[in-house]
Amino acid sequence: MALTGLQIQKLLPKTNCKECGSNTCLAFAMKLAAKKAELSECPYASDEAKKILGAASEPPVKCIELGSEKKLKIGAETVLYRHEKTFVNQTALAVNINDTDSAESIDTTLIAIRDYVLERVGEKLIVDMVGITQKGDNADAFAALAKKAWDTTKRPLVLRSADAKALVTAAAAVKGSGSVLVAATDETAELLKAAAIDNGHSLAVTAADLDGVASLTTKLKDGGFNNLLLCFNTYSLAEQFQTSSIARKAALKDEFKPLGYPSVTFIETDNIFDGTVAATTEVSKYGGICVLLNFDPAQLAPLMTLRLNIYTDPQKPIQVEPKVYPVGEPKSDSPVFVTTNFSLTYFIVSGEIENSGSSAWLVIPECEGMSVLTAWAAGKFSGASIAKFVKSVGLEEQVTTREIIIPGYVAQISGELEESLPGWKVIVGPQEAGDIEGFVKARIK
Ligand code: SF4
Repeated sequence: MALTGLQIQKLLPKTNCKECGSNTCLAFAMKLAAKKAELSECPYASDEAKKILGAASEPPVKCIELGSEKKLKIGAETVLYRHEKTFVNQTALAVNINDTDSAESIDTTLIAIRDYVLERVGEKLIVDMVGITQKGDNADAFAALAKKAWDTTKRPLVLRSADAKALVTAAAAVKGSGSVLVAATDETAELLKAAAIDNGHSLAVTAADLDGVASLTTKLKDGGFNNLLLCFNTYSLAEQFQTSSIARKAALKDEFKPLGYPSVTFIETDNIFDGTVAATTEVSKYGGICVLLNFDPAQLAPLMTLRLNIYTDPQKPIQVEPKVYPVGEPKSDSPVFVTTNFSLTYFIVSGEIENSGSSAWLVIPECEGMSVLTAWAAGKFSGASIAKFVKSVGLEEQVTTREIIIPGYVAQISGELEESLPGWKVIVGPQEAGDIEGFVKARIK
């Protein structure tokens, strides 16, 4: 049961000492109730409070940290739908390699995984993990492939085998990589739990149905190991979607802890369209790790873009760093544009300037990641604030031109900007970024 702020406050020392960063114990209790603080931030919390609040403050879906430095996080979700709040940790995408693949194909795929970078609105997106599946019968070869994948990519692995002893060997070969062993059954749970603990990995569990999965996670948790993932035994996209939704709903709405873990799913079809649909479903609902069958940029790019859209916190717009950006190869007398630091705005405007075949300086002041009209309405994109930024970055020493082009939607700030920037002429540019190319060609070239 989730505790309210008032219930939590009763368990705190009530001294209002402020060492947790909140002004009062009640304020801190409210933050704990909203899962915006950790109990460890209060140095005076009693053992009783730790026991009660520790369990109550755990996210309904456990956060699993992967990789050698535990930087890749999955799980920790608190809502069923993104519009309720936000999703926290995006689905990790992995690309599978089989131990029966040819040596040449393995080398090529590992290097492709290592080097793949997709840039979207200033974010560099990479393949998060490598799936290593044992299809042959040589445990040492499986372990050697796992080690090679780890050495080449330094990405955590999803080690999959039906042979628990082979998994133990591979787990030891990549000790410290923070990988996932797939998957423990009732029979192999103790053996694989020991391998996961000894080598710093997480463990996926599987069973014929959800009841079996829940009973296995309970057994492992009661045995002191809780870095767990769920691997569902499903045979169709519809069944996978349904099972995954039931598990997530049970964890979030019924606070059923045995299913409160992220999942790992393997895409098995070699039909790229079916595989992409299945992976899209995982990214949307509620995959923790999705292992793709092959390395294929045509599949990765749309999946990563979709994932970026779903997992971006709508309350925190993606921003670019406020500064003066060169677009193309501008000279000191090249035109100067100004717009806001909302990533999408920046990339669209800079792209349109580039499309015009012209070079320019693009001034991006701090606007808290808002778009042009929102920033203007919030007072973050005014003549005075732009002028202040232009002076603070020394633009007047950097360029000889004294004309600055503002977005057409904020033509009303032109007077204030000219007043605040003596010696500069303000030119009102087009309202839509799509008209920048024509504007540049007509006015500047
Ligand atoms: Fe209260 Fe603990 Fe915060 Fe002090 S540190 S104000 S005792 S919650």
